[in-house]
Amino acid sequence: MADFVLLISDWYRLNARELPWRSTKNPYFIWLSEVILQQTRVDQGMNYYLKFIENYPVLNQLADADEASVLKLWQGLGYYSRARNLHKTAQQVRDEYGGEFPKTYAEIIQLKGIGPYTAAAISSFAFDLPHAVVDGNVYRVLSRYFGIDEPIDSTQGKKTFQKLADSLIPESDPALFNQAIMEFGAIQCTPNNPDCNSCVLNQSCASAFDTELIKKLPVKKGKTKVRKRYFHYLHIEKEGEIALDQRTGKDVWEKLYEFPLIESDNENIPTEFKDSANLCYQTKHILSHQHIYAFFYKTELSEINGLEFHFVEKSQLEDYPIHRLMEKYLESND
Ligand code: SF4
Repeated sequence: MADFVLLISDWYRLNARELPWRSTKNPYFIWLSEVILQQTRVDQGMNYYLKFIENYPVLNQLADADEASVLKLWQGLGYYSRARNLHKTAQQVRDEYGGEFPKTYAEIIQLKGIGPYTAAAISSFAFDLPHAVVDGNVYRVLSRYFGIDEPIDSTQGKKTFQKLADSLIPESDPALFNQAIMEFGAIQCTPNNPDCNSCVLNQSCASAFDTELIKKLPVKKGKTKVRKRYFHYLHIEKEGEIALDQRTGKDVWEKLYEFPLIESDNENIPTEFKDSANLCYQTKHILSHQHIYAFFYKTELSEINGLEFHFVEKSQLEDYPIHRLMEKYLESND
């Protein structure tokens, strides 16, 4: 075990990528980077991170911002509930801690939307506390190196891996070890075809050169069921204005803007506008647990089922936070 810690830490010192959130101890910046990186790859996440810290260089500015501006900045990353939680948590830190991030793991994990992974990341990177991070990369490295086939999506499996990671993390430089194991998973022990030849752990790794075992680990118990949905959107323009609604309720893209929508259980044009709309675009949009079959129609209708549409200036459309599916449609129209 000591070997593992030593080898992986040395490897990191030689191979770590230079990333802006690694050279700061500011817990707010670290938290921002972690929330963004849960959502996207490092190269894309970098722009979002820089945009956020430029717009809101201190936590209270994020807390005081209006929600639409935060969602707008987040636009394109998906999972908008993360952006809303980010905003709410900033407000919680402003209100309960005067805008200063709390400094203990116990307090950090009490914050809204912060789970064990993010709490461990902030505690170790910002405050040098020995809390082990366990994310997808860490599961992969640990399961392969130690040959553990417990499912990582089971309660027991999660406990096993967390316990193992906690037993490995050194008191002396917990931040370095956490960074090292995540970076190792990201660039050396990659999901597909890791290069065991060049790997510093290949003498002691339980899976080294065993392609079958490598493919099998980490084990996942079951795939999540995918729900199929059919969204029919109406593109309506008149006199320089365009119909736009804000999504409400607990659903995907909560509070983002989109065209008036009728959801149905199939791909047929809804009877409500069957004779007065033309299909102009269709696409399948894949989210983690949902496949959305989307249809866009152009029409001049002014109401459906007695419901009138809400119009905004077309020239101001880009000020509204919209979801990726809407973006796709608008891009197809350019
Ligand atoms: S030897 Fe291969 S499987 Fe083991 S940690 Fe290195 S890259 Fe991953």
